[in-house]
Amino acid sequence: MGKYLGPSCRLCRREAMKLFLKGARCYTEKCGVARRAFPPGQHGQARGAKLSNYGLQLREKQKVKRMYGIMERQFRRYFAIASKSKGVTGKVLLQELECRLDNVIFRLCFAVSHKQARQIVRHGAIYVNDKRVNIPSYSVEQGDSIEVKGTEGVKKGIKANVEATKDKGLPKWLDGDLANLKGRVMRLPERDDIQLPIQEQLIVELYSK
Ligand code: SF4
Repeated sequence: MGKYLGPSCRLCRREAMKLFLKGARCYTEKCGVARRAFPPGQHGQARGAKLSNYGLQLREKQKVKRMYGIMERQFRRYFAIASKSKGVTGKVLLQELECRLDNVIFRLCFAVSHKQARQIVRHGAIYVNDKRVNIPSYSVEQGDSIEVKGTEGVKKGIKANVEATKDKGLPKWLDGDLANLKGRVMRLPERDDIQLPIQEQLIVELYSK
């Protein structure tokens, strides 16, 4: 699968908002968006033209992909699943993204960014229902229990992440025993649980052309 290897802050500046891609640094005054609040590139400061409808739809899609750290092909796969489902396409799309294991690890404060969450999963520190799962895209279900297991060193690192990010709180659909690095999926997320500035309808319009 392809992977973006460029500077993370560039992505936030392109979307004109903090996407929290770098972890602890994102919460400091060193944040790229705070320091340079204009789009990246040679003509970044000169850009000012109003976006067309298509432009708005495209930016929204790119923003969501970047928020969850996934690439185009995988994103399209999620959209295909959502559009075939009986539910509202935009809502199901966001639900699919929220239920990715790497996202759940990030929401449980076990990682400071999605990138780090993916790494933690890949390294085999996460157990779902007592079974090791090292696939970041694994989709959690209602009732799943999630636990960090591993060496004291691994747990110490993850506890430091919890300390650094626990103030952001947990979404209502997840329950967490953060001191013991455990969590549970109480229910699937509803649209109101996803407190992100996303206009999913624009993405649906883009892919429905
Ligand atoms: Fe984005 Fe974090 Fe960089 Fe700020 S520091 S621009 S939030 S990646």
